[in-house]
Amino acid sequence: MIALKSIALIPAAGMGKRMGAAINKQYLQLDGMPIIARTISVFEQSPLIDAIYLVIPAEEIPYCREHIVEAYKFSKVAAIIPGGKERQYSVMNGLQGMRKYASDDDVILIHDGVRPLITEKVLSASIAVASLHDGAVVAVPAKDTIKAVENGMVTGTPDRETLWQAQTPQAFRYSVIYSAHQTAERDQYLGTDDSSLVERAGGRIRIVPGDYHNIKITTYEDLVLAEAFFATARKERIT
Ligand code: C5P
Repeated sequence: MIALKSIALIPAAGMGKRMGAAINKQYLQLDGMPIIARTISVFEQSPLIDAIYLVIPAEEIPYCREHIVEAYKFSKVAAIIPGGKERQYSVMNGLQGMRKYASDDDVILIHDGVRPLITEKVLSASIAVASLHDGAVVAVPAKDTIKAVENGMVTGTPDRETLWQAQTPQAFRYSVIYSAHQTAERDQYLGTDDSSLVERAGGRIRIVPGDYHNIKITTYEDLVLAEAFFATARKERIT
């Protein structure tokens, strides 16, 4: 029997405009290393991960290959695939790009390129849960009360006990996530995460409790916060 694989799919094809920097935000330094390299290194170093597929804006591929993949010797990066206009299309390009390599039951961990604070513990839990259910979504309980709003007016207050904030990784067996993306594409449905595509196809998704450090670096404030998390982690290792 061929052992099942765990494959990382890292969509990193956004233009990162919200940061206001001259280069794509994912190449900004975080604790002495580009953000995207920090993210990839967690998967590279994990003994659970067999291969990494990166999705990058087409025009950035040569830069990414030279300054990230080769510079940091990421030997598990199997391909760098051009992204699409929306994140969902970038993920679909990645899923198609790994078709020859991935088997139906292999676990695909889809993880934002700009979430470098992911941990091995969360990767391991996600893989275990995705093998037993239709999907695993790393999430944290909502801390704030969330309001539904239309035209500036509150239309509802969902019970906070039932609300979780979805992060990544989101992990699925290859056949499940590929067919959910195909269905969404056929229906021209655009979701805000990968889990929602599997949910609308009737899949049952289990939460993997994550942590509040696993932020998506979208604005300059997020970068400051991420630096603080790394500095604290370093101090804890020394003392
Ligand atoms: O734009 P958003 O904050 O949702 O981006 C989350 C992740 O998805 C980022 O790592 C970004 O590079 C990626 N993305 C992508 N293709 C797009 C838009 C975003 O791969 N068209």
